[in-house]
Amino acid sequence: MKILVTGGAGFIGSAVVRYLMSETDHEVLCVDKLTYAGNLESLSVVENNERYRFVQADICDQALLSKQFDEFCPDIIMHLAAESHVDRSIDGPSAFIETNIVGTYNLLEVSRKYFKWLCEENAEKAAAFKFHHISTDEVYGDLDDPEDLFSETTPYAPSSPYSASKASSDHLVRAWQRTFGLPTVITNCSNNYGPYHFPEKLIPLIILNALAGKPLPVYGDGSQIRDWLYVEDHAKALVEVALKGGTGETYNIGGHNEKKNIEVVFAICELLEELAPNKPSGVAYYKDLITYVDDRPGHDLRYAIDASKIQRELGWVPAETFDSGLRKTVKWYLNNERWWKRVLDGSYKGERLGVKR
Ligand code: NAD
Repeated sequence: MKILVTGGAGFIGSAVVRYLMSETDHEVLCVDKLTYAGNLESLSVVENNERYRFVQADICDQALLSKQFDEFCPDIIMHLAAESHVDRSIDGPSAFIETNIVGTYNLLEVSRKYFKWLCEENAEKAAAFKFHHISTDEVYGDLDDPEDLFSETTPYAPSSPYSASKASSDHLVRAWQRTFGLPTVITNCSNNYGPYHFPEKLIPLIILNALAGKPLPVYGDGSQIRDWLYVEDHAKALVEVALKGGTGETYNIGGHNEKKNIEVVFAICELLEELAPNKPSGVAYYKDLITYVDDRPGHDLRYAIDASKIQRELGWVPAETFDSGLRKTVKWYLNNERWWKRVLDGSYKGERLGVKR
């Protein structure tokens, strides 16, 4: 198979590309604009693989996308390119509308024309073609009832500009399936964590601030509940769906790991006490660095995923528990200082970039 991955230099996209290179024989074309979140150093282990190619391109540029489709002739599109940080969407929604909505529209249009050509020229390849749109559980809004779970039929009720833009893109994908017959599949996943995560997100931010003896910012009282999934489990689920998922289907993906944000922060502090006992001067315990800050506007309280459909239909279950995945993650950051130091000082881009939080 030839798989075109958009956003392959990001956190989850790079895990997908590394997985495809190490565990399958498929060819990959990675298409990424390389925004602040795109980092080719997350793909250094695959860069010399002859089944892998990279093109720097914006999904808002239809002409450039069409050229990539014509040259690569993909069998599957895995669409991960997005603006993904909720706080940034509150400070400046415009890039989220542009990439997540207009960019997805462009990709759908290019795919539709390409699929039409495939149907005329190569029926066998057309029969296998699939557009896999990667989305989030945040499109469902939040849950009041502690027993409730998001299922594939939960109505959409997004809260932030980020989740609203992702919800819009999901609707576009379903419309292109229904109206134009483009074979699509959508996945909605819970919060990911793991190696190569940009340090503006909660888990890497807490690890790196603790190691530097800086405050550990927790929104509100830290009682917001998220379901956490180790990124390599997500990458495996995505490849399963891309290869075997039913056309027109939606699959929720989750880790069965509901945790309050404050529990996550305490768990990281405990792991660091064990794995990095030499603390910065003046720090008695890492947990002493916890600092409660003003809550994010519109902050959703609880997300929780019912992932039984993907388990039942495709046999996917996560390999990591939250404890095993978090331990792996903390160890990865301790062993990969070069990667995150170059992100923090901006040298991965050749310039200094502010890490937000
Ligand atoms: P990320 O921010 O780490 O990576 C996004 C990638 O997209 C970057 O490499 C960036 O350079 C690229 N990109 C941004 N705008 C682009 C454009 N206009 N053209 C081409 N490339 C562009 O995001 P992530 O955490 O890896 O998330 C990937 C996808 O998974 C997103 O669609 C996100 O909504 C979804 N998702 C993320 C999570 C999570 O916990 N991180 C959970 C569920 C779903």
